[in-house]
Amino acid sequence: MTTAPHPYDALMDITARPPAVFVRGEGSWLWDDSGKRYLDFVQGWAVNCLGHSPPCIADALAAQAKLLLTPSPAFYNGPSLKLAQALVANSCFDRVFFANSGAEANEGAIKLARKYGVLHKNGAHEIISFAGGFHGRTLATMSASGKKAFEPLFEPKVPGFRKAELNDIDSVERLINNKTVAVMLEPIQGEAGVWPATDRFLQELRALTQQHGLLLIFDEIQTGMGRTGKLFHYEHAGIEPDIMTLGKGIGGGVPLAALLATEKASCFEHGDQGGTFNGNPLMCAVGLAVLEQVVTLEFLQATVEAGRHLETELQRLSARHGLGEVRGRGLLLALDLKLPIGASIVAQAFEQGLLLNSPQPDALRFMPALNVSREEIGAMIDGLDGILTKAGAARLVA
Ligand code: PLP
Repeated sequence: MTTAPHPYDALMDITARPPAVFVRGEGSWLWDDSGKRYLDFVQGWAVNCLGHSPPCIADALAAQAKLLLTPSPAFYNGPSLKLAQALVANSCFDRVFFANSGAEANEGAIKLARKYGVLHKNGAHEIISFAGGFHGRTLATMSASGKKAFEPLFEPKVPGFRKAELNDIDSVERLINNKTVAVMLEPIQGEAGVWPATDRFLQELRALTQQHGLLLIFDEIQTGMGRTGKLFHYEHAGIEPDIMTLGKGIGGGVPLAALLATEKASCFEHGDQGGTFNGNPLMCAVGLAVLEQVVTLEFLQATVEAGRHLETELQRLSARHGLGEVRGRGLLLALDLKLPIGASIVAQAFEQGLLLNSPQPDALRFMPALNVSREEIGAMIDGLDGILTKAGAARLVA
């Protein structure tokens, strides 16, 4: 007798997923198909910056869906022009190319840097990126990433990436040669476990790249759109990169990403870059609705305050349970667990209706909605406190 295939079996099995099927979200809360409610401090991996299904996104989608979905990427459309203008007006960049995912935006940044090398630097094409860095899952962005687990996969990798050490300017300088065209980094390495580049290192990088005529590329897919308390992380260091990529938060939950460049670095010629859905009005209308909220001083100030509150509460929790440091900025924070118990904590939290993330075995990462409330932070801390108390008791018994 053959058994009926399980509904999960139709999907490629690319990651370990808990068995729940999610059906609804609102703000910091998610519900599965059994009606169980979850407090979400993952938010689609720092994607839903305004929480789940905020009315402004539902309204923007409904209104735009009635007007125009996709004319053609080779025609102008209103929402993409407006969103590009708003991004330019609120950043140090002059030109925008819209993409559908962070990896695609980074792929575009890599191509733009290589094109710049052809036009201005005798064909220089090497990009210095960083050990521990994460830039996506296309072949070129996996090659740019410094994630150890990627090393043996999908060989041969795309050549032309050399890895320096974060916060070590000498390690960058040593890799510069006449084939180098750019330096690319996440200002806070998220997937690696929330390891921030210091403002000083970012300033040194800007000076070094300027001295050698290299492009400086910021991957702000995780740190951008208010996540660290400024609209873009580069503002903290008081420097201006040549190229920046955005993803995740820019769409607030829909697939939208962007590649931004200064006029000098914006050197694509016709035929170099494109894509069927790039800059479609449906997604760009959402991007506009998100940006209108996130760009305001009150919103960013509230994010800073929520970040400070979460940081203080995590520090208290850490002291109570003898754990390690709290690191990160704004609402992208990690708690050092000192032991490889991250996966077990995430699993227990899930059972209790709390969604947490452990990007490394000994760390928890917190990336709630930017408008998370003090009560929701309190509820998360209480849930985690209970789990850590049990974990401590289990260690005593063992
Ligand atoms: N860059 C950074 C810093 C990221 O955190 C991610 C995703 O986690 C990416 C790039 C890839 O973005 P996407 O998954 O949208 O392709």
